[in-house]
Amino acid sequence: MAQDLIVVGGGPAGATCARHAAQLGLEVLLIEKATHPRRKACGGGLTARVKDALDFDFSSAIEHEQCALRLVSPSGLVVEEVRSEPTGYTVRREDFDHLLLKKAEEAGATVIQGSDVIDLVEDSSGVDVFTSEGSHRGGLLVGADGVNSVIARKSGLHPRWKDDEVALCIEASVPMDPSDITRISGNPEWGERVAIEIHLGALVHGYAWAFPKKSEYSLGIGVMVKHLTDLKGSWKKFTEAFEARCGTKLDLADTTSMRIPVGGMIDKTSSRRIMLIGDAAGFVGPATGEGIYYAIESGKSAAEVAQKIASGASNVSTVTYHTQMRDGIGADLKVAKFMEKIMFRSNANMEALCKMASEDPIMKRHTLDFIMGMESYRTMRSRMMKRMLTKHPLKALRMVV
Ligand SMILES: Cc1cc2nc3c(=O)[nH]c(=O)nc-3n(C[C@H](O)[C@H](O)[C@H](O)COP(=O)(O)OP(=O)(O)OC[C@H]3O[C@@H](n4cnc5c(N)ncnc54)[C@H](O)[C@@H]3O)c2cc1C
Repeated sequence: MAQDLIVVGGGPAGATCARHAAQLGLEVLLIEKATHPRRKACGGGLTARVKDALDFDFSSAIEHEQCALRLVSPSGLVVEEVRSEPTGYTVRREDFDHLLLKKAEEAGATVIQGSDVIDLVEDSSGVDVFTSEGSHRGGLLVGADGVNSVIARKSGLHPRWKDDEVALCIEASVPMDPSDITRISGNPEWGERVAIEIHLGALVHGYAWAFPKKSEYSLGIGVMVKHLTDLKGSWKKFTEAFEARCGTKLDLADTTSMRIPVGGMIDKTSSRRIMLIGDAAGFVGPATGEGIYYAIESGKSAAEVAQKIASGASNVSTVTYHTQMRDGIGADLKVAKFMEKIMFRSNANMEALCKMASEDPIMKRHTLDFIMGMESYRTMRSRMMKRMLTKHPLKALRMVV
């Protein structure tokens, strides 16, 4: 029997789309390659916007409410701030994604796990999806299968990422005693609170991170593929320096590498019966690598459009989804791309940004807001530019020429 909607991929994008579409009354089948809970290379940092984007309590999956950020410049200058309100959360993706998938099932979506989609055939009334076990038919198909999307490739919507559209990351989940986490990522004045750390000097044109969880760290490093030189060497240097700070040997057994699409929204996210969401469509913040919020938002939009198409609404098609995305998230990511190009252009630019933030409390607030994804990139760009041009014009000029 044909479903109204088939969703391929059960990460934040797919699980949200399936949950939302089922809540809107569609017959939904979600097909996921892995069996959850599954490991996903990720810092597990959620911006505060995720809380507004999700309409259920996900506190069971939260490791820390984040209130503090520590930014380290290429020369080692440290800029840090603690706030009274949470600026975001850290989660283990195993737990967070599993919860989202369970919520999709609770909402009425049928979930098949451990099934790999390998091909599809689209026609004017629907899509046949082929897995290693058999086939399924849906009136509509949503590709939520991540950066290596089979749906993007097989539909012809996005055959491959170019070197300036994708970054390569190394990420490790490193077990750590909670008291050591407080000592390393805390501050005697912060009580139990710990900071997420961004190390801008860990490599040119990229950055490294240390995101504390309850009893582990996500340590990682990433750079745009077009700037790839010695990622492994930079990773070794970063982890050795972190190990020296910890004073104990790091267990790096759970280390993996993964691409992240930071080039902005792809040119075409929909065909007649198919929509791409999340990483498959390039919905990731170029400067920060934040993708979970965009995965959730694009999943919700695709579900709403799918419901309208299934109910026969006139003037609604998959192009409606593409247009909404292009004018919303896509436009904001273009602004973020502009900021990323300036910020990561050189170590000198990263240093200048940290220097301004260390000398000027307002610039510090704007910079940390930008990294923590507190507002749309459009809003944050205009605030940062205004402050830089009025208070730091020479530094600003040097960053762009
Ligand atoms: C190292 C690293 C660190 C990151 N850190 C952060 C961070 O701290 N905060 C943040 O917001 N974002 C971060 N991101 C980005 C974030 O992980 C992604 O943007 C987010 O996971 C996108 O969600 P998604 O649902 O689109 O894709 P995914 O989470 O990748 O989910 C895709 C799902 O599809 C399944 N799948 C794939 N192929 C098939 C197939 N053929 N058939 C069936 N199922 C399939 C996969 O098993 C997977 O479960 C990071 C990314 C990387 C690589």
